[in-house]
Amino acid sequence: MARFLEYQGKAWLAKAGMPVPKGRPAFTPEEVKEVAEWIGGPVAVKGQVQAGGRGKAGIVKLVNTPEEAAQAAAEILAKTVKGLPVQQVLVEEKINIKKEFYCSFVVNGAREARSPMLMFSTEGGMDIESVPEEKIFKFNVDPLFGLQTYDAVDLLAKAGVPAKELSKFANLLTKLSKTYQKYDCQTLEINPFIMTAEGDLICADCKMEIDNSAVGRHPEFEIEIARDLPGVPTELDYIGWSIEETDARGTGFLMNMGYDEVSPGYIGYHPIGGGSAMMGLDALNQVGLKPANYADTSGNPVASKIYRVAKSVLAQPNIDGYLLGGFMMANQEQWHHAHAIVKVLREILPTQKPGLPCVLLLCGNREDESLEILRTGLADLMTVNGPGRRIEIYGKEHVTDTKFVGERLLLLSKEYRAEKEAQGK
Ligand code: GDP
Ligand code: MN
Repeated sequence: MARFLEYQGKAWLAKAGMPVPKGRPAFTPEEVKEVAEWIGGPVAVKGQVQAGGRGKAGIVKLVNTPEEAAQAAAEILAKTVKGLPVQQVLVEEKINIKKEFYCSFVVNGAREARSPMLMFSTEGGMDIESVPEEKIFKFNVDPLFGLQTYDAVDLLAKAGVPAKELSKFANLLTKLSKTYQKYDCQTLEINPFIMTAEGDLICADCKMEIDNSAVGRHPEFEIEIARDLPGVPTELDYIGWSIEETDARGTGFLMNMGYDEVSPGYIGYHPIGGGSAMMGLDALNQVGLKPANYADTSGNPVASKIYRVAKSVLAQPNIDGYLLGGFMMANQEQWHHAHAIVKVLREILPTQKPGLPCVLLLCGNREDESLEILRTGLADLMTVNGPGRRIEIYGKEHVTDTKFVGERLLLLSKEYRAEKEAQGK
């Protein structure tokens, strides 16, 4: 999913007429001071990262003066939360809280619903996971007509909102429901949704995720990569997205996983499908190897698409091996994979990575033919001193054998490392 940071989501909420605190993002303590001066009075300084629980992580601070705001920002900007460095903060007017509520719209994919679902609770502020089930009130919203005021009132009354506040809340929820649909959101969570001491309602936090498939309909968002990435896209992310964006025939997913390019033990990772990907990680974890990237070529992609993914995986500069991890009896035609892999290995191994360990596991539909394509297509490289001397090809007999595959890769990659070091590389 394409996710927005809090300040971005709030800007889109404001454009849709929703009440949000007055504020602006900033990168440095000096900038924070200026924003705080512009706001006037006490402010909240909030670290902007794609992670919940920021309050608990100490990157939401409430202060009284611009100088304190700058100081708080300096502390927040020095932090890393859940592996993500805080590079930006949102400075906004401090809200005087009377009560915090929880409110979100998500997609309810259950057969009987298949619609957006509103969740509301009077227990706002904390993670929804820690709110008792009986305190969360849910309503499936009609996807054609949206949330009606009477349904919102009904839900809010059940949740325990006082009668005299019902119309004010219902009004906002119906507006929020329209916003959710207008932006093609997958998730729109406002937690806390605040009633101020003055009696106004305001969206104090915002988690907005856009349905990846709808990103093309929203050029205004300027989303470059319609994917759920943990941070700023890397070169590999752009390459991966370019493969997917230009060819809808099957999945050709490729994404960065924090490969540092200098440490040993990284394997160019090419699983086929989500279940395979988990088993492949098991294979690597068991022997202390690491995936350089994440990938997935499933859903019967064409050979040209698999070729582009495999080539990008193999081109990563300092990998100690390549794993084609077909840990599933795939019912896609596996010979597309076989053709693609033969072409890539023939291009890469002789000139760029002679001797690179390549463990190729391919099972399922057209397995015999596929393995034959690999064997004959790579035979001349696989001689004792050939550039493909560490290619190993396996089929269904090893389909769930993560231990075996991990151990083969470990052994081969150690040999390869030692050989490279002996050559002073
Ligand atoms: P999260 O922990 O990542 O969900 O970050 P939130 O934006 O939800 O902030 C966490 C908590 O900080 C909220 O539940 C509020 O209790 C508190 N908080 C955030 N902004 C303000 C504010 O402007 N005024 C006050 N008084 N509290 C705030
Ligand atoms: Mn929150």
